[in-house]
Amino acid sequence: MAVERTLSILKPDSVEKNHVGEIIAMLEAASLRPIAIKRTQLTRAMAEGFYAVHRERKFFGELVEFMTRGPVVLMVLEGENAIARYREIMGATDPAKAAEGTIRKKFAANIGENATHGSDAPETAKFEIGWFFAGCELP
Ligand code: GDP
Repeated sequence: MAVERTLSILKPDSVEKNHVGEIIAMLEAASLRPIAIKRTQLTRAMAEGFYAVHRERKFFGELVEFMTRGPVVLMVLEGENAIARYREIMGATDPAKAAEGTIRKKFAANIGENATHGSDAPETAKFEIGWFFAGCELP
């Protein structure tokens, strides 16, 4: 299996509820190593551009409001098969459907406020990492 990098966002709900440390501990325990981390407040333009693929979805406005209502923690995770493994550890988008022991099952309130983001494919990981991290911020 290849070593991959993926983008993780600990969304505003995770930061508000002080779940950042616990979530990072779950990731490290799964050998998903944060190789770059920053806490920041997304602007509307940053959130809209990041989620541009969802622009036509009816929840787009709500999603942008949510993602900009408070600070987030942005991370690049590195590990074997990191993209798929992180998605597995996050759990389903809707926490009601997420498996026991997953981040979303444990910490997410509902399908919108669902604790974390993780890239879903190598091309999206590349775009998403580049959206938030400059080359000089990455090892
Ligand atoms: P993900 O890849 O598991 O994050 O899921 P998607 O790519 O389908 O959706 C992106 C994000 O949009 C989700 O993580 C949610 O925060 C949000 N979202 C998805 N579906 C809904 C919905 O029905 N209502 C609201 N308010 N937000 C949603």
